[in-house]
Amino acid sequence: MAKPILLSVDDDSDVLRAIERDLRSQYGAEYRVIGSDSPEGALDLLKQLKVRNDSVALLLADQRMPRMDGVEFLQQAMGIFPSAKRALLTAYADTNAAISAINQASINYFFLKPWDPPAEHLYPQLDDLLDDWQASFRPTFQGIRVLGTRWSPRSYELRDFLARNRVPYQWTDVELSANDPETKQLLDALGPEAANLPVVLFPDGTKLLEGVPAEVAQKVGLRTRAQTDFYDLAIVGGGPAGLAAAVYGASEGLHTVMIEREAPGGQAGMSSRIENYLGFPTGLSGADLARRAVVQAQRFGVEILAQEVVGARAEGPYRIIKLADGSEISCHALMIATGVQWRRLDVPGIDRLQGAGIYYGGGATEALSCKGEIVYVVGGANSAGQAAMNFAKYAERVIILVRGESLSSTMSQYLIDQVKETPNIQLWTHAGVAEAHGETHLEEISVLCSDTNKIERVPASAMFIFIGALPRTDWLAGVLERDERGFLLTGPDLMRGGERPKGWTQDRDPFLLETNVPGIFAVGDVRHGSIKRVASGVGEGSVAVQFIHQYLSKV
Ligand SMILES: Cc1cc2nc3c(=O)[nH]c(=O)nc-3n(C[C@H](O)[C@H](O)[C@H](O)COP(=O)(O)OP(=O)(O)OC[C@H]3O[C@@H](n4cnc5c(N)ncnc54)[C@H](O)[C@@H]3O)c2cc1C
Repeated sequence: MAKPILLSVDDDSDVLRAIERDLRSQYGAEYRVIGSDSPEGALDLLKQLKVRNDSVALLLADQRMPRMDGVEFLQQAMGIFPSAKRALLTAYADTNAAISAINQASINYFFLKPWDPPAEHLYPQLDDLLDDWQASFRPTFQGIRVLGTRWSPRSYELRDFLARNRVPYQWTDVELSANDPETKQLLDALGPEAANLPVVLFPDGTKLLEGVPAEVAQKVGLRTRAQTDFYDLAIVGGGPAGLAAAVYGASEGLHTVMIEREAPGGQAGMSSRIENYLGFPTGLSGADLARRAVVQAQRFGVEILAQEVVGARAEGPYRIIKLADGSEISCHALMIATGVQWRRLDVPGIDRLQGAGIYYGGGATEALSCKGEIVYVVGGANSAGQAAMNFAKYAERVIILVRGESLSSTMSQYLIDQVKETPNIQLWTHAGVAEAHGETHLEEISVLCSDTNKIERVPASAMFIFIGALPRTDWLAGVLERDERGFLLTGPDLMRGGERPKGWTQDRDPFLLETNVPGIFAVGDVRHGSIKRVASGVGEGSVAVQFIHQYLSKV
């Protein structure tokens, strides 16, 4: 923890040096002693300390300074660090002025110059003041702080990114805590910069205005650039399939890089409780599974990059991928494990309010913010059921909207049972969202009831959409064969009438999980015909590594 600060201000450099020396010799072990030779400079410094979340225990100012006297300085400084103890240094001739200033300006003490010997005229009184300050001192948060507003899509995106990458941070909603004195002081210290939300404050005193995940990723040490430009195996996507391939590949000696654009864990990382994964009888959260897998992969030396892959091509025996920052990585074997992304709900109001009350997927960061509110979950599959169970812990009521007449054909029975047994979850069947309403954030939704053909407009604080998912593989068009929905074709699915795919160069059929380009494999949800489950993604990711060994033995 950073030491609290003792700040002294005096325009006379000899006096300043003397006071700094005496403070440091007595209090240097517990406090950081800082001096400033101008009150204006000291106020700027205090603002910077506020933004860094440092603690100031004592402000000690000379009374006679040009442009701003000590009392005025202490009064202004009080607005920035109200709990710091305030003391004046005065000449004997100014004693009366100092006493009346103390009464008017809530100054805690005044010292007469010279204060020799300090053991008699300085330390006893300062000990008293500092003991008093320590009694009510609460250490400040020393990690990353994010200032933003709940309904801002950019704030949401950033918080979701930090949470999913398990980067600890402290969140301040500047609208909700507008009356909180600490927040006010911090915003004042930031000045006009506070308008550029979300503002990310780092413990080293640096800050990002209008912070975006890629910039924050670099700042918090998530690797975005590869250590070398060639690997045995490059994996695109860090969901269960990609992570499994990374662990098996690296553990079997392949120099492996895994590139993930959001956060390792993929869709599974959004799951509040996976109950059907072998070996975890009481279930485990997707975040926990992802964290364990990342540690395992890193232990085997997998390099993990926080980047998006935007292109792929083959050049002779090399497979080359292009990253969003323009850099390229080449490899012998490439694995596509990019999974699927949520399908968009195409009704008026949805796009405008996305991130401001409307979310695709789990919105783990949002669950706590839904405390006491009415939350809608759209969709009837397991992902929707799990999300409803999670939100029900915080929300007053969770309403699941499904088009059909029940959940039985879309959700696993164990989840249906849990949903039924949860009193604050309600199922609204034959219901589809027709429109979302709200100025700056979601306030109401219109629901089309297909059994009555009527539209009902109901209040809604948040709506989470889980209506199926599709692969986003446009960046592979023209390189890899895809089905009509964009899923990648592999192995036997590529064989037509016993013929190998067009342009195939090997004297063998494509391996089970291999695409139409030898050495490029596809695993998990992105693969045509895959079973959309964590276990099957993990299975495919690990099995594919065996095919990669076979492929590499002939490259
Ligand atoms: C809320 C929820 C709950 C679920 N619950 C369960 C459950 O209880 N049991 C179960 O078995 N299954 C469950 N599933 C399904 C399971 O999570 C998926 O089947 C599984 O995650 C698929 O793994 P994957 O690795 O193929 O793809 P994904 O998990 O989709 O991971 C793909 C990754 O690739 C990244 N990516 C995509 N494109 C790029 C690119 N161009 N560059 C870099 N990275 C990219 C994505 O950001 C993503 O992280 C659930 C799914 C959801 C959404």
